[in-house]
Amino acid sequence: MENLVYSSKTRPQRLCKMCGKCCKMAVSQYSLNEMIEFSSDKESEARDFLDVFVPYEDLDEPRKISSEYVDIIINKLKEQEKYVENEPIFYHCKYILPDNRCGIYEKRSDICKRCPAHAWMLMPVGCGFMGWQFALREQIMHDVRKLKEYLYECEILYGEGEIPSKKITVPQLRELLISKIKPYERFGSMYW
Ligand code: SF4
Ligand code: SF4
Repeated sequence: MENLVYSSKTRPQRLCKMCGKCCKMAVSQYSLNEMIEFSSDKESEARDFLDVFVPYEDLDEPRKISSEYVDIIINKLKEQEKYVENEPIFYHCKYILPDNRCGIYEKRSDICKRCPAHAWMLMPVGCGFMGWQFALREQIMHDVRKLKEYLYECEILYGEGEIPSKKITVPQLRELLISKIKPYERFGSMYW
């Protein structure tokens, strides 16, 4: 049950408070120039992003919406050494309606349908998905720890030999587990 509730595949849309902040203060992990470069690929998410979002000229408008979120993002960019003064950071959607509804709801792109894209995505302050993201992070960390525990048990019991119930060797299991943990490496999974 928990796995279904806290799964990015079953993102409960009713948690959205319709504050419109994610549509009015979108952020990308790439710079505008990088996104323009990537957008030549028809399949790229950068192309989808630029089809919908327009960069703000400065931070005045974003600060009116949520100054706290502006500071959080700037601090994060500085931490990652990605902050470049006077380069666009925040974007607003062309299609958001005055009451924060989506003007192209039925045709909105996958990047909108999958927002928040993952449990660690920094959503605007007060976003209704924050509790869900927290629980999803806990679930993922729990699952990763369980996988590691299983590997350590197998190492103790079978050394580098075969695991009888799995018909694979411990090194093969290790490879498999590393591949499952790898996607979360940038969030610290190697140390969970
Ligand atoms: S920030 Fe969160 S609550 Fe607000 S519109 Fe976006 S998803 Fe919904
Ligand atoms: S297309 Fe719709 S869901 Fe996507 S950012 Fe714009 S208003 Fe929000």
